[in-house]
Amino acid sequence: MARYRDPVCKLCRREGLKLYLKGDRCQSPKCPLEGRKIQPPGEHGLDRRRPKKTEYGLQLREKQKIRRFYGILEKQFRLYYKKASQMKGVTGENLLVMLESRMDNVVYRIGFAPSRAAARQMVRHRHFLVNGKTVDIPSAQAKPGDVIRVRDRSRKIELIHESMKKVREGSLPEFLDLDKAKMEGIYKSIPTRDQVQVDANEQLVVELYSK
Ligand code: SF4
Repeated sequence: MARYRDPVCKLCRREGLKLYLKGDRCQSPKCPLEGRKIQPPGEHGLDRRRPKKTEYGLQLREKQKIRRFYGILEKQFRLYYKKASQMKGVTGENLLVMLESRMDNVVYRIGFAPSRAAARQMVRHRHFLVNGKTVDIPSAQAKPGDVIRVRDRSRKIELIHESMKKVREGSLPEFLDLDKAKMEGIYKSIPTRDQVQVDANEQLVVELYSK
């Protein structure tokens, strides 16, 4: 499957916020955005020479922000939007809930992986069981009550232990749970909007795609 291969910190600078694409580095002083005024990529911050953003420009940025946050390519993102618009309820929220319920995101947020990209690779490499069955599709949707467990053969992977160590008591969102001793997590319920991590205005994405 196609993937974004350029330096990912550039994406955070472009969106003007931390997208947490590099695991531990994102939480450390090594993050180039840490304690600095955020400038778009380019030697002097190209946006300074660009005209003020149009309505379309703003909508586009919000879409890119969400897409990059979850590491989704354009075509797939559009399919998510299409599904979200066919579901009952608020389209923007449906979209975010679907993205948040992707298996790679759930594995990351439970604390089995240091980043969404690492979680994606771990899922592909079959390190997890969902309700006792192997899962290897990062985009698989978690359902309330799903138990995600590290496979026996993968229990010695240092990266998983290191990531779990960083999960502090009470730090997980309410829709998730982690039992470190059992190396097992639960997707308890569908996340609410405030439990979704991305700091973006999903309504602008709906406006963009409904043109
Ligand atoms: Fe790079 Fe992570 Fe900082 Fe983004 S948040 S700039 S990916 S280190």
